[in-house]
Amino acid sequence: MTGTSVSLFEYLLNWLQREGWSIVSLDECLERLARNDQSSRYAVLTFDDGYRDNVSVALPILERHNAPFMMYVPTGAPTRSMQSWWLGLRKLFLSRDKVAIDALGRQFHCSDIRSKTLALAEVIRWVHQDYRRSAMLAPTFKQAGISLATLNDAYFLDERELGILARHPLASIGGHTTSHAALATLDGPSARAELADNRAYLENLLQRSIRHLAYPYGGPRACGLREEHLANDVGFQTAVTTRQGQLHEHKMNHLALPRIGFSSRSGFTARMSGIMEAVQAR
Ligand SMILES: [Zn+2]
Repeated sequence: MTGTSVSLFEYLLNWLQREGWSIVSLDECLERLARNDQSSRYAVLTFDDGYRDNVSVALPILERHNAPFMMYVPTGAPTRSMQSWWLGLRKLFLSRDKVAIDALGRQFHCSDIRSKTLALAEVIRWVHQDYRRSAMLAPTFKQAGISLATLNDAYFLDERELGILARHPLASIGGHTTSHAALATLDGPSARAELADNRAYLENLLQRSIRHLAYPYGGPRACGLREEHLANDVGFQTAVTTRQGQLHEHKMNHLALPRIGFSSRSGFTARMSGIMEAVQAR
């Protein structure tokens, strides 16, 4: 997290409290929705991917506000096998002033933080247009000596740390697939395995039932009706997207819940975009 995002995060929690929102766990939120409780406004805080700084930076703030939160964890983060292309790109642009992305056919000259941010955003946009492109970045990372496993080690909680976090009274852990793949780009059996294997992994590691899911990326190019059916089949009770919106009492599709994104205004949004999201209910 950057300084900007920390102060934004503090600001958001203070604002929610000032405006009379209570921050509740996802389970508490579902109970309130089920009994159509309109006595107060409530919000759910979620973090994606299991970043170390969710614990080192965000957790003390959450504790101060006594705010429960949900963290969605892909297997590849604690096992260090995740294709965290967004971290690789970030490292690539931060560590050099000339960057060639062969798969995109682009050369970037970026010697200051502003041009680095713009170039990074352009490449990230390009991947988001078709998630299969993320694999095309592998030769670029290799050539630059960038190891995604090393970055995973630096950025994500390991299994031991995740086990400790899972026992924290404010924390809930949810699924986020095995490899952080955009499920809609996979064939049915592979997408199902991504969901089921991750759920089994987390249940075995943490010795608790995993009933909530966040679709990786969460947009229409990453998840849709088929993924909702798969999530249900595999045993998830809810799943969140990155579609913007609020929760309403009736006819909520629990397998395609909306979220409101939060990211730093000037920072590296790929890393930030998933870090803090609020699901709102009214
Ligand atoms: Zn994610």
